Amino acid sequence: MGEKTAGALSELGVETVFDIVTYYPRRYVDRTKQASLVDLAVGEEALILARVRRVQLRRTRTGKTIVEVDAFDGTGYLHVIFFNQPWRAKQLKEGVEGAFFGKLERFRRVTQMSNPIVDLIGDRTGRIVPIYPQSERAGLPSWEIAKLVEDALARTGDLVDPVPTDVLDRLELMSRTEAVRGVHVPATIGEAMAAKRRLAFDELFRLQLMLRKSKVETAHSSKGISHAVSPMFGSIVHTSRLNAGLFSEWDSVAPNGESVLVRSFFSSLSFDLTSAQKRALDEIANDLRSPIPMHRLLQGDVGSGKTLVALGMLLMAVQGRYQGALMAPTEVLAEQHWITLSQLLKGFNVPGSSDTGLFEDSERQVRVDMLSSKTPAASRRKILEELSSGAIDIIVGTHALISEGVRFHALGAVVVDEQHRFGVEQRAVLRERGRTGHGLDPDVLVMTATPIPRTAAMTVFGDLDLTILDELPPGRTPILTRWAKSQEEYAKVIERVRSEVADGRQAYLVCPLIEGSERVIAKSATEEFERLRAGELKGLRLGLLHGQMLPRDKEAVMEEFRLHRLDVLVSTTVIEVGVDVPNATVMVIENADRFGIAQLHQLRGRVGRGEYRSYCYLIALADPEDSNPRLEALVASTDGFFLAEKDLELRGEGTILGRRQKGRSDLKLASLARDRDLVATAQVIAKEVVGDDPSMTSYPALADEIRAFQDPEDSEFLFLG
Ligand code: ADP
Ligand code: MG
Repeated sequence: MGEKTAGALSELGVETVFDIVTYYPRRYVDRTKQASLVDLAVGEEALILARVRRVQLRRTRTGKTIVEVDAFDGTGYLHVIFFNQPWRAKQLKEGVEGAFFGKLERFRRVTQMSNPIVDLIGDRTGRIVPIYPQSERAGLPSWEIAKLVEDALARTGDLVDPVPTDVLDRLELMSRTEAVRGVHVPATIGEAMAAKRRLAFDELFRLQLMLRKSKVETAHSSKGISHAVSPMFGSIVHTSRLNAGLFSEWDSVAPNGESVLVRSFFSSLSFDLTSAQKRALDEIANDLRSPIPMHRLLQGDVGSGKTLVALGMLLMAVQGRYQGALMAPTEVLAEQHWITLSQLLKGFNVPGSSDTGLFEDSERQVRVDMLSSKTPAASRRKILEELSSGAIDIIVGTHALISEGVRFHALGAVVVDEQHRFGVEQRAVLRERGRTGHGLDPDVLVMTATPIPRTAAMTVFGDLDLTILDELPPGRTPILTRWAKSQEEYAKVIERVRSEVADGRQAYLVCPLIEGSERVIAKSATEEFERLRAGELKGLRLGLLHGQMLPRDKEAVMEEFRLHRLDVLVSTTVIEVGVDVPNATVMVIENADRFGIAQLHQLRGRVGRGEYRSYCYLIALADPEDSNPRLEALVASTDGFFLAEKDLELRGEGTILGRRQKGRSDLKLASLARDRDLVATAQVIAKEVVGDDPSMTSYPALADEIRAFQDPEDSEFLFLG
């Protein structure tokens, strides 16, 4: 091809033959579905192939653009009207043939379509015409891309198919050669769909193979700690029975009084654990006991009690004189955890001697401390020293925990909270750091703040085992959620804040989400705080919380709010995660339309934590009939798992997979929302194929392909194929 074409392709990210045969059509124009204007009735959806006869661009008095096109299909005239798409005047020049897809309307005796989907198909023949994405941006018409693709396909001939034929047969998938042809030059739409399914499977399968391989490799190459702990709740229903000494299974496995700390901790709680929490703790205990390091993802809805599960795990390590680390994504959350843990662990002791042989200390109080980048130098020095001597049992912190200079004496358990903000590499660094002292890998538990869809969990966290907390503690009153669209409704919201405060409750008010530096955000929050204090919320005790405050000041404000010396906390999203004040019953979120579903759900989860009826108000001014699928989803449901699926549906996977490394392993055709079954199937088959052999010696072609996809340097393999 010429240099100009090559340049245009390169703009689309197409540099190689592989790139072009995997540059898939965005959709297809099905000529067999093509209709003639004379045969169609108003109200029908139709595909009309017509030649442009006249184009006109004009502006309305309010400054909007309207492009009007008259096109002739051989049987009649179609009037096409585009609102606010001025570029259509350039796209649809006189004489061009286009495929117009839309609903036929009748307006003043003229047949028309407004804002139809338009594809220019040039001189392409054939019944199904592929339409390639972004071709216009690159100045390369879709039909020219189609020609280049066909040319490439003709020259590549048959492709190697590394997927075992029995797998293809079982899943009723076509061969790779057929699929690559079928996706670009299908004879029918059905063929195109079947081809896409095969190729989508390949994408998902490769990902699952990589995840599975790395999981098995890690299991082979690392040596973990066999913690002296066994499942606690397997044979009992109520924790209260702990006290009665009905601990048969536990005692039989661990007769030497092990797990004294974990046991006495859970029996000290004033409530029973949910059965989901017990199941989770049992699974964790099982993993901790085994010498294979645990890598587990704990998913649970907001308020499902993940913190206690995490703490249980830390104590399982601590009681054997190992150390635990809890890593949180923000300063505020780390502080919150630190306070919670310190309070819960008051009066509990680390047992004396241990069978690890590492320690000879006598029994003493459990020591919890906190480390962040804002920890003053002197305290930091002391904490680091105590971490490496083993004087600190549990360290709570931010990213600072994986910073240079942090050495543990004997790290045994790591909890990473709200993982989606941590990278895979950071998990690895923490594991690495943890090895100091005993040379063994600590067990790792990853928690997400809000649920993520199953398919996404399998894809992004496919190398982790999964535990789901699918139960909320009893006695939660449901949260009433409303979308306030008007000033009048906003006034009612303020009224509610005042009446709840008058009843002795507390409220959060989350400031509008704005773009800008931390400083800009802090300034706007401060202004909002001043405005409310002098205006709508005058007379109430208001506190302000934002990310630019000193840790000490932030902590002071949180403490005041916790102690109910404040009625309303005006805050930026720093309160998004983890804050736990059961007396708070109102959550007001300003400009809620700027937030994502997960964030709104997380914010809402700050209320409804106690015995009182709670309210969440989403403020987003709009016309009464306006709709907003995100806000409506929140009003309709408080189920985080449902909302996660909804979010995936609305936003697609880009945002979920965004943090993963980009490259050949990207999902181009597979969709986590649509292809649920394929994701699950790919995982099952990857497990079968890899088995216990991460180098996949029985499947050399697959092993080659994975290598090619993982390492671009090695990609010759693929092109040879
Ligand atoms: P999340 O899963 O959102 O992190 P938390 O761990 O913060 O939830 O727990 C929310 C609240 O529920 C906390 O106040 C916690 O003490 C309480 N809680 C946890 N487990 C139970 C339980 N089994 N019964 C009653 N309350 C519980
Ligand atoms: Mg939490």
